[in-house]
Amino acid sequence: MKRKVVLLWLSVVIATSAASDDDDTPIVRFQEYLRINTAHPNPNYAAAVSYLTSQARSLQLQTTVFEFVQGKPLLLVTWPGSDPSLPSLLLNSHMDSVPAEPSKWIHPPFDAHKTDDGNIFARGAQDDKSIAMQYLEAIRLLKSKSFHPLRTLHLSYVPDEETGGLHGWQMFAKSKEFHSLNVGFMMDEGQASLGDEFRVFYADRTPWNLVIKAVGMPGHGSRMYDGGAMENLMKSVEIMTRFRHTQFDLVKAGLAAHSEVISVNPVYLKSGIPSSVSLTGFVMNVQPSEAEAGFDIRLPPTADPDMVRKRIMDEWAPAHKNMTFQIVEKGPLRDYVGRPLMTPTDDSNPWWSIFKQAVTSAGGRLAKPEILSSTTDARYIRQLGIPVLGFSPMANTPILLHDHNEFLKDSVYLTGIKVYESIISSLSSYEGNSS
Ligand SMILES: [Zn+2]
Repeated sequence: MKRKVVLLWLSVVIATSAASDDDDTPIVRFQEYLRINTAHPNPNYAAAVSYLTSQARSLQLQTTVFEFVQGKPLLLVTWPGSDPSLPSLLLNSHMDSVPAEPSKWIHPPFDAHKTDDGNIFARGAQDDKSIAMQYLEAIRLLKSKSFHPLRTLHLSYVPDEETGGLHGWQMFAKSKEFHSLNVGFMMDEGQASLGDEFRVFYADRTPWNLVIKAVGMPGHGSRMYDGGAMENLMKSVEIMTRFRHTQFDLVKAGLAAHSEVISVNPVYLKSGIPSSVSLTGFVMNVQPSEAEAGFDIRLPPTADPDMVRKRIMDEWAPAHKNMTFQIVEKGPLRDYVGRPLMTPTDDSNPWWSIFKQAVTSAGGRLAKPEILSSTTDARYIRQLGIPVLGFSPMANTPILLHDHNEFLKDSVYLTGIKVYESIISSLSSYEGNSS
């Protein structure tokens, strides 16, 4: 009887210690954050802010919540440096993610299920909840080694990146609260890399939404005549397609990366006279008087926006063909003094040299710096003239952002923490007065 009691007591002790170990590891904390559903259209920002705040406070970090738009909180976590007069560092991640279609996933997108081989499946595992938690874990390691930063370090957790940043960074970047942080250098999200090297991004492409419209004489479907709306629109599409080829050919010939050319992709065509009696849904014997097409255009920072505007005006939607156009520029192409939005990746930028050295000393290798094909919040900060590098340390990892079955391997995640530990300790110890 007595023996049984002792055994029971022992098993309770073992069970308790095992449970507390399991509950308090970097991987478990990553899974906890991944389980908070911050996918659009109803991201649970309150739960994300609450979780990140509790993590930050457990590390004795300061937290502030800004709300430029109601229901869209922005969490700032601060680790004060010993010399607050030096420009600070900012590590950014967005809390929101794109939606997931659970039926297309092998594991539910908000369960953060870890397979036997260590792959953690979740929406946001790569984009970009990994870096969000890696920043905090790196600070945890540094604090355990009694490291003290010279420069102040901020972490920002922002809403609405995936919907264009209008209620997040676009407002934060213009705020006095942001300017008072005196940020000298910022890091933002990057992308996974299939090979051994980490990818790093020094610029984004800027999207333009272009709509071209043609109007012309309507006419009988049997007649061939000049100046019809459809005919003019189709001629423009032909000319635009030729331009698209010149850009794509550079990529196919290996002379430029996808992100270094101007991409032009048609996304909708709209015309025709609706008919409820026609099998096609449209009147088939009338040539319509209006026609419209929409394009997704992406401009690298090296592109000349005036040249592109002139091309649209002269060739793609010329007024003498009764054509009009509208460009919606989704973000800036130039900074506040007119420079292309590019962060230097050479010795002229001391932050670059320190970052590169820090990655190397953590055992990592950097690929040739790239322009990101798509767009992130980084453009709002580069516009202020602040250098920003896009970086998510995920080597030997399939690129699954926005895809079904997004996952990240546990060992890759843990390596990333060590990389950030090195980056944070190096950047925050930099004594120079670069800003
Ligand atoms: Zn992202």
